[in-house]
Amino acid sequence: MKKTKLRIHFWGEKILRTKCQQVKEVNDEIRKLLDEMCVLMKNCDGMGLAANQAGLDVSLVVVNSGKEILKLINPKILKREGSTEFEEGCLSFPGLYINIKRASKVWVSYLNERGEPLTIEASGILAVVLQHEIDHINGIVFIDRLPIWVRIRLRKRLKEIKGKYKNGMPE
Ligand code: ZN
Repeated sequence: MKKTKLRIHFWGEKILRTKCQQVKEVNDEIRKLLDEMCVLMKNCDGMGLAANQAGLDVSLVVVNSGKEILKLINPKILKREGSTEFEEGCLSFPGLYINIKRASKVWVSYLNERGEPLTIEASGILAVVLQHEIDHINGIVFIDRLPIWVRIRLRKRLKEIKGKYKNGMPE
């Protein structure tokens, strides 16, 4: 297991509500942050990780598509199509798995590690993960996508997470 200084930030920590700063220049510093985020994602067994979950106020997302690791700089959803429901988890909400409705297909623009503009077309689980992570960098978390009555039912669980993880991961 590779080490990283980054740590997961949990529900209740302000950075999760931050709309992350756009990257102006893709340089070594940005590439290093993406690598560190990949290490953290791997160590936590995550399918995706947004920079603010790692405590960084910068518009970066990494995703493990199963086949490859995608590193996205300034990702933005250009278009959504269809609808799907999937049971999602989030590294910032340990133990919470909830069904969330999202688009079944998305087109996402981003810059790659060389600063080249690209567009990815995604469906299935990859589309779900991309929507979840891009929400993060806009300060939105998955419980925000729930109908209010479901969220009310989760109130106690959310409070527990906030209390248990307020100083990071407990020993
Ligand atoms: Zn998440």
